[in-house]
Amino acid sequence: MPAYAFFHGQFMPLSEARIGIMTHALHYGTACFEGIRGHWDSEQERFCLFRIHDHYKRMLEGCRILKIGSPYSIDALWQLTGELLEKSGYRESVYIRPLAYKSSEVLAIRLHNVEDDFLIAVTTFPPYLDVEKGVRCCTSSWRRVDDTMVPPRGKICGIYVNSALAKTEAQENGFDEAILLTHDGHVCEGSAENIFLVLQGKLVTPPSSDDILMGITRDTVIKLAKNELGVDTIERQVDRSELYVAEECFFTGTAAAIAPILEIDRRVIGRGEIGEMTARLQKLFGEVMLGRNPKYSGWYYLVAPGTPIQSGRKRII
Ligand code: PMP
Repeated sequence: MPAYAFFHGQFMPLSEARIGIMTHALHYGTACFEGIRGHWDSEQERFCLFRIHDHYKRMLEGCRILKIGSPYSIDALWQLTGELLEKSGYRESVYIRPLAYKSSEVLAIRLHNVEDDFLIAVTTFPPYLDVEKGVRCCTSSWRRVDDTMVPPRGKICGIYVNSALAKTEAQENGFDEAILLTHDGHVCEGSAENIFLVLQGKLVTPPSSDDILMGITRDTVIKLAKNELGVDTIERQVDRSELYVAEECFFTGTAAAIAPILEIDRRVIGRGEIGEMTARLQKLFGEVMLGRNPKYSGWYYLVAPGTPIQSGRKRII
């Protein structure tokens, strides 16, 4: 199946979507992106684009930070995404990558007076971390950039150099993933995931003021824990050593889903196996991400290929 793209206002095979070598974003990282999973439900023959509205809302917030104008409203963006998915012909789970970027082919280190463009690519993407076996992590020697440097609340492309440095260091040292600390030494997040601890039966996760990306999976887990398990999440600063004494630890992210952490800095977490809370949240998340729990229908954009397009808009089930 050829990967597909929405580029320069048109749908086309990904192989035909090309940008010039002097493009501003390529040189300076002046772009922001999203990662959205399109979960294929083979029983229902439909995709569930999970919390797509929230993904585009976050992307447009990043655009404001970078002074990138969007020619599309949030509603138009997710409808475009549905159309792209339909045209791509996939019948398996996909990964959708919208990118808003500084497109002028100029040498100019600035955000103003530079043109913008927007594209969406759709492709397949294997699981990012092993959610069944769990992962082994290290604390990174790299610190997370903070809001006074490049604001981490946006998925700003240039910032991912920070993530890539940490991820490569971790993997080359034999770990699966890195945990980055903030500039002042508190637990921040993984290279592309938020982090949760279970401490005395409660969920604990770093707050927005600790330079995390405000993850959509993080928010989903907080709400599922509260509504379905009656468990509150405490958003507060977390010390590194709290990781070592936690009963359970896990990552959350669109790419990573809910990934249990079994070891950090060569210390076993809890019993060194997937914890009870983590497993219960994984099960709940597995149902909602496929669009199967009607209680959370506001989170689903269900795209059933082959159903009629009404007034130029994909039918929303
Ligand atoms: N932190 C970072 C740095 C990320 O790149 C991601 C992935 N988007 C996350 C956290 C998790 O966010 P989400 O659950 O919205 O995918």
